[in-house]
Amino acid sequence: MVSRVKSKENELKQLIEFQPYEEQVRLTIYEFDNCHAQIEEVKEVQDRIDAIIKEVPYMKVPIPVKWNTFLCEIEGSGKNTWTVKEALSEMGKWKITDEDELQNMLKSHHDTGHIIYHKGCELIVLRPQFLNSIISNIITVFDDKKVGSKMSNHYKELCNKGILHIDIIKDVWKEHKGEGAQLEDIIDMMIKFDLICEIPDTNTDDGERRFFVPCRSSPTLNAKENYPRGDEIEFIIDFYYFLPDGFLHRLYVRMAKWSMKRHESLKPTFHCRQMNFFIDHDHRVVMNNDIDNKDYHQIKVTIFAVNPLKLQSNRPMVSINEDIIHHLDKTLEDLKDRWAKRVKYTVGILCSSCKEHEDKKDKINLIPLEDILRVKGKNATCSDGCPMDVSHILKAFNKHPEGTYKAPFVSIQ
Ligand SMILES: [Zn+2]
Repeated sequence: MVSRVKSKENELKQLIEFQPYEEQVRLTIYEFDNCHAQIEEVKEVQDRIDAIIKEVPYMKVPIPVKWNTFLCEIEGSGKNTWTVKEALSEMGKWKITDEDELQNMLKSHHDTGHIIYHKGCELIVLRPQFLNSIISNIITVFDDKKVGSKMSNHYKELCNKGILHIDIIKDVWKEHKGEGAQLEDIIDMMIKFDLICEIPDTNTDDGERRFFVPCRSSPTLNAKENYPRGDEIEFIIDFYYFLPDGFLHRLYVRMAKWSMKRHESLKPTFHCRQMNFFIDHDHRVVMNNDIDNKDYHQIKVTIFAVNPLKLQSNRPMVSINEDIIHHLDKTLEDLKDRWAKRVKYTVGILCSSCKEHEDKKDKINLIPLEDILRVKGKNATCSDGCPMDVSHILKAFNKHPEGTYKAPFVSIQ
């Protein structure tokens, strides 16, 4: 009988086959149990990564022997984590002279998969399984005993709304015998990794810290969270058939932070694939990634004017500046740079004529939003030459060609 693991492996191979990124995948596939992997199993993968790295031309640069001494010593310390402060106070022992060298060394060991370290974080994680186990226990694992414990309300909130209470983090940290003083460092690391997003000024009875956990909540907005809309504009972020969930959730977390920075009192609504956040009191944004259809590698962004009166004839129209577009561009570039250099994307509008054309229906023809916002007249042109009327987008961003249009309402004939 083919085991479940084997059948998953075959499924993965079939998924990879003929994909644009197939050539980037290096077989063999290694299987791990997330929570119970043995040190030898992890070591086997680390050795494999080392072997692949050695073949890459830029890694043929020699690294100082003392860097390796440092690695052997901290790995042999039997600890799960170290702090940068600890490393700094002992760096003389390894003849590492300044902080820059320490940072370069940590980055190099991180890149080769021996430690987990992110510049600006205090924590150096020596055993990836330790971090994995903590994080998975905090944000993904539920057992009945816990759900029925004195923290059942917090677990219910996490299950139903994707909101994580600080007490759950404290409890899991205690269970893993983490060092008390490093609890803040691990929270900081999860925030810097965009795994969770702190909800500012939590207006609850206990006044305790709470965090959004996008990967934890149900997939889409529920009926109550779909607010009445006035006029709306829509564009797409296309990821060329490759959009990792981690990238999606990180983008959602970053956009939520941006929104809450503008208006602390306006809280975004988080779901695993869909989220709702604010530009200001009059405009909201819904981002949606629908994995159940052929557009699974796209995020649909809808900006709409709120319409509390549910007006049908004189609906409020979208009237914003380009702040959100600038922030979106900056965030996508930064995420790509930090986490997924090979991810490609375009922010734009689907060409409506190409979309309808039979022989072009498999091709995604996006007119970049950047180009649209610089259009002088009212028509933009797709790469195949089709003209498209984009005046509604220009109006929404207050860039109407005549330069005079600024009505607060749009009339439906
Ligand atoms: Zn076209």
